Amino acid sequence: MKRKGSKQKKDDPDKRGPKFLIWLVTTKCNLKCSHCYAAKFADGELSLEEKFSVVRDAVQTGIKEINLTGGEILLHKDGLKLINYIAEQEIDLNVFTNGTTLSEEIVKELAKNEVFIELSIDGAKKESHEKIRGAGTWELTISGARR
Ligand code: SF4
Repeated sequence: MKRKGSKQKKDDPDKRGPKFLIWLVTTKCNLKCSHCYAAKFADGELSLEEKFSVVRDAVQTGIKEINLTGGEILLHKDGLKLINYIAEQEIDLNVFTNGTTLSEEIVKELAKNEVFIELSIDGAKKESHEKIRGAGTWELTISGARR
């Protein structure tokens, strides 16, 4: 995984705009957490080309960091394509995930692209985590984190 800020260019004092974008790319997810708000935004999704266009616009605006969230972006058919596309830009990329989808293959792809991963773990024990995220999620998330 990369160190934060590793891709960032020096700040141009004449470009004072937003520095990062938090992007709820999809509302689809394999879990049903008790606190989840993603479904409130379920009113359609951008096509892959439209997503690429958002990235280009963000870079043009001077964004230094994109944070992809959801839903579960790593389950989405466009997820890795979007990650690869963003990784080609001179900006940092963070991906929020519930960790249940972190297969060896996906982890390799994320490492190759120097993606910074943010994992959701609710509490220090299986009981607190699964109370919120559902039965069987603790092992999947911890296994994903270990990869
Ligand atoms: S993992 Fe995230 S997106 Fe999925 S249900 Fe839980 S809070 Fe919502």
